[in-house]
Amino acid sequence: MATPIRYRVDLTDRLHHLVRVRVTVPEELAAGARLVLPVWTPGSYMVRNYSHHVQTIRATDPTGDSVPVTPDGITAWRLPDDVTGPVDVELELYANDLSVRTNHVDDHHALLIPAATFPYLDGATDRLHEVELPPHPAGHRTFSLLPAGDEPNTFVAQDRDHLIDSAFEVGDLPHIDFEVAGVPHTFVWAGHGGAPDLRQIAQDTTAIGEACLALFGSELPTDRYVFLCAGWDQGGGGLEHRDGSVLQMPIRTFQDPDLTARFQSLVAHEYLHLWNVKRLVPADLVEPDYEHPTHSPSLWVAEGWTAYYDELLPTRAKVWTPRRLLDTLRDTWERVDTTPGVRLQALRQASHEAWTKHYLRDENSPNVMTDYYGHGSLVAFELDLRLRQADPEGDGLDTVFRTLWSRHANTPEGYTEQDVLEAIAEVGNDDLADLIDTRVGAPQPPEIDEALLATVGLRVTDAGNGPATPDLGVQVTEADDGITLTSVLRDGPAWRGGLTGGDRLIAIDGATVARGELERALRAHAPDDEVAVTVTRGPRLLTRTVQLGEPRRRWKLAARDDATEQQAATFERWAGRTLDEVTER
Ligand SMILES: [Zn+2]
Repeated sequence: MATPIRYRVDLTDRLHHLVRVRVTVPEELAAGARLVLPVWTPGSYMVRNYSHHVQTIRATDPTGDSVPVTPDGITAWRLPDDVTGPVDVELELYANDLSVRTNHVDDHHALLIPAATFPYLDGATDRLHEVELPPHPAGHRTFSLLPAGDEPNTFVAQDRDHLIDSAFEVGDLPHIDFEVAGVPHTFVWAGHGGAPDLRQIAQDTTAIGEACLALFGSELPTDRYVFLCAGWDQGGGGLEHRDGSVLQMPIRTFQDPDLTARFQSLVAHEYLHLWNVKRLVPADLVEPDYEHPTHSPSLWVAEGWTAYYDELLPTRAKVWTPRRLLDTLRDTWERVDTTPGVRLQALRQASHEAWTKHYLRDENSPNVMTDYYGHGSLVAFELDLRLRQADPEGDGLDTVFRTLWSRHANTPEGYTEQDVLEAIAEVGNDDLADLIDTRVGAPQPPEIDEALLATVGLRVTDAGNGPATPDLGVQVTEADDGITLTSVLRDGPAWRGGLTGGDRLIAIDGATVARGELERALRAHAPDDEVAVTVTRGPRLLTRTVQLGEPRRRWKLAARDDATEQQAATFERWAGRTLDEVTER
């Protein structure tokens, strides 16, 4: 058997965020070897140039003599053609960037993202890759998404891609072991503080996992699964790996019901990726190029459908109430509908341009791009309703998912958009496949009308009679030092009045507006009123006249009073709950 590629990680200087990684280049591969640190990590479609964090790189031959290492481009290095191996190459990395796609090492924990940590050996990517990662200091423990090797503190990946898809955490970290369908799972809390109820998390996660399993109606496609969840002062998000995921939530998530619900949705999202993305793989992502962007037009399925089910599955699992499901769907719908970019960038295009638009945002983003998560999830909702409208006794989009799974899971070619449209045509009909093709190919939001909602006994209704706020047409960020117009929406009131994204709001009609005061300041006016808005733009102080717009309608999704038995039954097949459980709020 070919010699494995062996790595050893030294974490003895965690306090200074330093990681030393040694890779041993086997004797037969040493001459002219090319080592590459990926520029991106699977699931996060952005060039991150992880080599930015490489502080030193040096190599030694078997006699201990130093070997020159020559840069090859910006993220690869070469050994001399005449070197005698094996050669140890050691990198010192700086790791102080906490996100689910970057390394973060401190005295509390060490989160290692393999793409940012382990340079791979060109031409040897299908060999076993072994990592020795002794925890430091004593008493800390290494958690890995990889299975353990024979030697202590070693972990074994079947090949380069398996290693890149398997994160590590080290620390003295609260964790809990549990089972889903007889398969061992571990949840690790790497929060810098917080007090999660691990038993509750295990219970909710088990229920969500079982709902995912029921969706695909087969065995769990893994024999182990590990959630590594970091907690920081703010932020949130997740990244799927082959047999686990990395999550990030605010430290005090579990003291807040809405944040806890967001966490549960995140668990459902990453867990569903066990099937969708990790084993049901978009064709373009089957063989990723870790030195360059790998584009796919199918993220509306890979992420959009996953985002749709990350709300549906906690509801089916009885972890969420149906009310929360409907409110979350409504918020997504409202957000997609009020984003000007939805009428400029098609969903398919948004997917292709993830690298340069979704992951590289600025103040103009809402005007030029749509979000393939939210927009994709709304298309999934429309598709699901149309399938259930045509066949109220069927399982709607669940059946399309199962069809794709049965045909394209774990295949060397993955699935294409055409495969998805064919599955839709089969479960529904050709017209529906054409409609979805149009939804994905043209810059427009989905169309979900009263009749479609009635399929599952729902309707749109007014939400409360609170005071309406005339529209300024902006997205804002509020902080203690003031309000920033993060984005000014194209052709809206502020846009027409001459305001621009990035302006800092100082006053309306000569009276200062502080954090939390903007809505009240606008409510003092009627729609069509002209107001003087004072902002700073860089060094300049400016006042512009803005004519306010009509308030947005405040609406919600509710159960129909006149729902038929069929509609109530279809709701139950869809949400896994009864229509009677939909409470008003
Ligand atoms: Zn995802």
